[in-house]
Amino acid sequence: MPDEILLDDTWDELYIDGDWTSSESGETIAVEDPSTRDVITEVSAATEADVDAAYEAAAEAQTEWADQPPARRQDVIEQFQQAIRTHRDEIIDLLAAEVGGSRIMGETSIQIATDHASEAATLPRRMKGEHAASNIPGKENLVQREAKGVVTVISPWNFPLNLSMRAVAPAIAAGNSVVLKPSTNSPITGGLLFAKLLEETDLPDGVVNVVTGRGSDIGDRVAGHPESDVVAFTGSTEVGQHVASLAGENLAVPAMELGGNNAHVVTADADLDRAIDGATFGSFVHQGQVCISINRHIVHEDIYDEYVERLTERAASLPAGSAHDEDMVVGPIIDEGQRDEMLGYVEETVDAGATLETGGETVPLDGVEDSLVVAPTVLSDVTNDMAAACNEHFGPIAPVIPFSDVDEAVALANDTEFGLSGAVHAGDLEVAKDIADRMETGNVHINDQPINDEAHVPFSGIGASGMGTYNSDAFLHEITETKWISIQHDARDYPF
Ligand code: NAD
Repeated sequence: MPDEILLDDTWDELYIDGDWTSSESGETIAVEDPSTRDVITEVSAATEADVDAAYEAAAEAQTEWADQPPARRQDVIEQFQQAIRTHRDEIIDLLAAEVGGSRIMGETSIQIATDHASEAATLPRRMKGEHAASNIPGKENLVQREAKGVVTVISPWNFPLNLSMRAVAPAIAAGNSVVLKPSTNSPITGGLLFAKLLEETDLPDGVVNVVTGRGSDIGDRVAGHPESDVVAFTGSTEVGQHVASLAGENLAVPAMELGGNNAHVVTADADLDRAIDGATFGSFVHQGQVCISINRHIVHEDIYDEYVERLTERAASLPAGSAHDEDMVVGPIIDEGQRDEMLGYVEETVDAGATLETGGETVPLDGVEDSLVVAPTVLSDVTNDMAAACNEHFGPIAPVIPFSDVDEAVALANDTEFGLSGAVHAGDLEVAKDIADRMETGNVHINDQPINDEAHVPFSGIGASGMGTYNSDAFLHEITETKWISIQHDARDYPF
């Protein structure tokens, strides 16, 4: 039985070439529990020299790893999945301590991460090439699919386990090596935990390397490293644009999953019970800190008042407090900056004429000086240009906007630079499908809410929500290269 993985373990080292090593600077960064506001551990602040060492190890290990038979790479992914299952409860505790994840968030993270492992385990056997006839007499064309090389993975703090997993697992399954840089808010569950879990597998040293540190210190070196062939980035649009430009300069493939401003559209004849159930989950799970959560509710004027009343009742009844409380639904916001920004959006929206139905304030917690818990908030009489609607608020905030006909609903939903996810509730499935077709997003869910991720189904954002596609064959194509080899069997007749 492997040792437990606990918060009390040592976390202040980097994982490079299969070794735990101190950062060159010796500096550390404190990690805070957003529920208690206590410093729970320290992690290393890597330097550019540490980053270079991680890429050197990754480049060195990659060729031999790619040469391993498909069954061997599949086996390692299955061991990785088993390690997550073995440490399930410890990982859920770590997510609660590090990012304020409720029990529901922890269980969801495990479910999605293991789903990504299931899909990744099939990739080594699915990396098939082609055989094509040639127009040149006596020639045979072969097309092989090969690993790209070194995949850089930069992940955010909000769902760190599965958002790192969706890039790391397919990357190594396909024969790449990885340098993983988690967010400073989630260095364990988005990064160092992966090293510990992979140590329980037969993955060779150097295939996965983890560097922790501030984006402002080492981010540019990671994103623009000359050894990097793919940069798989999940995070904000602003940082993503910068990272994509660095990757582009280096001709590394930028796989960018960025911010969202997702609409939950509800028509007059929708099943209101289902629409409200979806609305409550889609706005408030993980306190709204999900790129695909509902940012705006767009609701037909005939049912608007009832919708607002019922959503307000549900929001006000949700338990909000410490993530360490088993029954908690709405836990703390990740840090003060995010909390103050979202409360600012609420204030601006009310100042602009919206009505605060519930929430809009922090929830005091016993023994915590400056609570990061924001009460589930519902705003009515909102228009699309108000601060809580036009910005990605990333919080437990539900602005509700009325519409009078389907064309207006579609126009409102699309009136954003983002194009990530969305949802439609309509009594008539044809109408729902028509609205879904017209919504300019990478993902839309009918009679559901926008938060869905299935590892075998393509997931992408358009516009300011990103470029490239995760999951399934689509991501396999981003992390592999085709190579055309032709064989001239008979002597060729050249013109001179
Ligand atoms: P962020 O952009 O601040 O940080 C993301 C990552 O980039 C972190 O690891 C950070 O350390 C790193 N970083 C910062 N500066 C860097 C630089 N100069 N070079 C390289 N890396 C750098 O995002 P966040 O606050 O961690 O996450 C929240 C954002 O992520 C939201 O906008 C959310 O919508 C988005 N998100 C998108 C998806 C998706 O699938 N589209 C999923 C989850 C989160």
